[in-house]
Amino acid sequence: MIADRLPVIIGNRGPCSTNIFNLLDYLLFVKWITETVQEQALPPANRKVRAREMKTIRQQLIEALMDRKMTAIDLSQEVGIGEKEVYEHLPHIARSVASQGNKVAVEPPRCLKCGFVFEGRKRFTRPGRCPKCRETHIQNPSYAIRRR
Ligand SMILES: [Zn+2]
Repeated sequence: MIADRLPVIIGNRGPCSTNIFNLLDYLLFVKWITETVQEQALPPANRKVRAREMKTIRQQLIEALMDRKMTAIDLSQEVGIGEKEVYEHLPHIARSVASQGNKVAVEPPRCLKCGFVFEGRKRFTRPGRCPKCRETHIQNPSYAIRRR
């Protein structure tokens, strides 16, 4: 309805300060068109798109890990996601890599105070505290995909 009136506003009088109502209409129209364009620019928030994005991120993470040692922080910078998100992707990546006969090798985290190594840790995240000296300064684990 505002759009219907636009050619009249622009063609006959234009948005000028002497005609405050038309100016207001014009500004409303500009606001409306801007919002519409912005809305259309946004990806539709449906599950399929989300799944596709996830797949792409995982694919990027897998590529980043191929024959290269990376910490979760390295990976988060490489792919542009949060460190926490990297930890969420890692178990899925380990499974999909394993299905191709490859393996995610983990260099275990190590206590930076006493040197305790967290061998055989199942989780990908960094441990909070050293069981030996109780220190919380723990080196990040790093990961790499080893081809069979
Ligand atoms: Zn320690």
